[in-house]
Amino acid sequence: MAHEDCIFCKIIDGELPSAKVYEDEAVYAFLDISQVTKGHTLVIPKTHTKNIYETPPEVASKLFERIPTIANAIKKAYQPAGMNLLNNNEKLADQSVFHLHIHLLPRYGEDDGFSFNWQVHTDDYSQDDLQQIAKEINEAF
Ligand code: 5GP
Ligand code: ZN
Repeated sequence: MAHEDCIFCKIIDGELPSAKVYEDEAVYAFLDISQVTKGHTLVIPKTHTKNIYETPPEVASKLFERIPTIANAIKKAYQPAGMNLLNNNEKLADQSVFHLHIHLLPRYGEDDGFSFNWQVHTDDYSQDDLQQIAKEINEAF
């Protein structure tokens, strides 16, 4: 169901324009206006869901089922050297539109406009530390 004041719901409904890449009964894919790299695409469920936390399994399942096909179409069109998939959840994690979306970012080179900046802390965690963290998450299911 469309969510009031959600720009992605309005895009699905055609109330706002978009450059559509793909559509079926469950999923809509369109170009991100920011075009971080050429062909940068957003894949969204037609069912409004705020982000990954609120997404029912059947909505997630249909969304992710379509992604390999869409990724392969982008790959065929532009032959990128690689592709990153990205999903931001909540403001701190750079979510700015609160309708679940997966970014497909074709990669053309190291200076193509997209980069990771994450720090590796392998040396800070022992095998016991990792087991403890995994246990705590597992207990939260
Ligand atoms: P987020 O930061 O939430 O992960 O990503 C939201 C994305 O939506 C941004 O990359 C932004 O460029 C894109 N976006 C925001 N408004 C519009 C719009 O009206 N049309 C399109 N095509 N993309 C949008
Ligand atoms: Zn929405």
